Amino acid sequence: MIDIIFIITLCLGSIIWVEIVRDLYHILAHNWQTLYRFHNWHHRVFDSNFNSVNKEIYRKAHWYNDVPESLVMIVFGTIPVTILWFLNISYWWFAELGSFYSLFFLLGAVARGLGISNIDKLTDFTHNPGEFSSLPSQWFVNRPYHWRHHFDNQKAYYSGTLTLIDKIMGTALSLKGKTIGVTGSSGTLGIAILKILHLNQAKIVAFSSQDKSIVLDINGNSLPVKTLVWETGQEYKLIDELSKIDILIINHGINVNNKKNIESIRQSYEINTFSGCRLMDLFIKTIKTNRDKACKEIWVNTSESEVIPAFSPLYELSKRALGNLVTLRRLDAPCIVRKLILGPFKSKLNPIGILSADWVAKKIIRDAKKDYRNIIVTINPATYLVFPLKELFQSFYFKIFTSKSFN
Ligand SMILES: [Zn+2]
Ligand SMILES: [Zn+2]
Repeated sequence: MIDIIFIITLCLGSIIWVEIVRDLYHILAHNWQTLYRFHNWHHRVFDSNFNSVNKEIYRKAHWYNDVPESLVMIVFGTIPVTILWFLNISYWWFAELGSFYSLFFLLGAVARGLGISNIDKLTDFTHNPGEFSSLPSQWFVNRPYHWRHHFDNQKAYYSGTLTLIDKIMGTALSLKGKTIGVTGSSGTLGIAILKILHLNQAKIVAFSSQDKSIVLDINGNSLPVKTLVWETGQEYKLIDELSKIDILIINHGINVNNKKNIESIRQSYEINTFSGCRLMDLFIKTIKTNRDKACKEIWVNTSESEVIPAFSPLYELSKRALGNLVTLRRLDAPCIVRKLILGPFKSKLNPIGILSADWVAKKIIRDAKKDYRNIIVTINPATYLVFPLKELFQSFYFKIFTSKSFN
């Protein structure tokens, strides 16, 4: 039994190793001009719908990029084999699988280089043209994931098959040049998120319920931010602005603390739950093209109170309702929807919060760039354990008892 587990580990390990080699080779190509001269052929091949622009360039791209890439994988695939053989480890030959696996990529690249018709449909799944039928995948590179490397930011989304290297390097999501709107921007966390987004070269837009332009303090310099004033119940007025936004961060909220009268119930649910849902729905209406499907995202700050007490019953109830509705709606939403599960940070809403909003914002952006779909930032270890389980079982339950169509 132990032998079988060891052999499986050797086989999988050798494949993961050559995939890591592929991604490191790709990163090197984007950072070393000599190699980029060859890799650039790959970037010249396609238009934004993944149709090849020219047969000659298409064939050359495979000889100059894909063939050498697979050869590098084959050669580096022999390193673990040599080490295991040298150390006289039994079953060392199973580690050959990595090189053998790479050989298929070499044959595919040679066939495409020779211009054999339709061979690309069998050997190159990440560059097939046509409308995207799925969202950028979280663990295995698919068409929308790789599309972003070609047309969103060439200095990100390097992974070729497994997204591991992008996750480690924080290149699984690029914020550079993206237009990002944040609701609740006049709040402490809103300001902190806007700042860190700006430092990540995003174009920021503040959505605020207060009729006052947001000005950020960036290392002592004032930075006025485009501020859109809106109010709950009037979300539909934002549709034109939302169509220009790439990532919408729904972050606004109200905390009525110990109140429990009917007006507080109405206010809590209206602001914390239904307003967020309406914004999410409106934003989804703006998703039409392949680019929208690959690049548009919604992040919702549903808070840690989804799973643990917030010592403010109406805040807890309304945020929990928002969290549950996001779980329901994101099952087949046409864009990536991330949840922000945040612990108690110090703010106007929560003056006794323990965490610093700047630290929380930094962690949110760091985890988003690693493509975490549920971003948990808290000091409570129970949340890290309970939330993923709750989300998993609730998603499963919602999936069984709701129809497939999003609308
Ligand atoms: Zn490509
Ligand atoms: Zn590239």
